[in-house]
Amino acid sequence: MMKNVEEALKKRPIMIAGPCSVESEEQIDKTAKFVASKGLKFLRGGAYKPRTSPDSFQGLGRKGAEMLKRAAERHGLYTVSEVMTDEDLKESYDYIDIVQIGSRNMASYGLIKQIAELTKDDRKPVLLKRHFGATITELLKAADYLSYYGNDNVLLCLRGIRTFEQIDSCFRFTPDISGIIELKDKTEKPIIFDPSHSAGLRRYVGKISETALCAGADGLIIEIHPEPDSALSDKDQALFFDDFSELLEDIGFNQD
Ligand code: PEP
Ligand code: MN
Repeated sequence: MMKNVEEALKKRPIMIAGPCSVESEEQIDKTAKFVASKGLKFLRGGAYKPRTSPDSFQGLGRKGAEMLKRAAERHGLYTVSEVMTDEDLKESYDYIDIVQIGSRNMASYGLIKQIAELTKDDRKPVLLKRHFGATITELLKAADYLSYYGNDNVLLCLRGIRTFEQIDSCFRFTPDISGIIELKDKTEKPIIFDPSHSAGLRRYVGKISETALCAGADGLIIEIHPEPDSALSDKDQALFFDDFSELLEDIGFNQD
């Protein structure tokens, strides 16, 4: 299994798509089927959600991760999902092929060490997202924690940073495109760009995706949903399936 993930990760661009959160069997299966029909290999879906408000939808936890894995397996995909604690990873280890460390936990060194220790024997890939207030050097050093504690199989993910633009910009975060260029200079690790969380609005996702690839990103992670208007998290940035098909055409995605 792990060998195959490694094979799939060698292709460019590395395209990851799926809902912000896993919400139901039906929602994730529809998405997996669609994602696979487009020739992608990676399905994202949050089960343990870092929400700003404690009264927002918190994700389905282990059940959500299990639904994600089942849907992925039915359609020949690998899963990408965030964990917020070592307990999350222990209980859902077999359901997650690529472990996401979210932006908010990039500097949680205790968690990063635990994730390295839990994943090192399999060299299970880890997708480490840049904190929206962290420098590029801090991101690279957080990745060093993973290697230092035993797992150097890391993909770095840029997802927008907070700048003065957020005083009145429509963008949720400022897309850190220069970070792509700088990271390509400083590391061999694959660089994934997340246009969804940086844009915050679906109409900006396509242009930012093209720009990120142009700047040298090795891949993209994009939020899509079968019915964005009823999504339980990040509905404004989720692409309709048709939008995503168009985006794939615009970037000339063709992988089989
Ligand atoms: C996510 O990918 O669903 C997510 C919460 O992203 P970030 O950590 O970048 O905000
Ligand atoms: Mn999200």
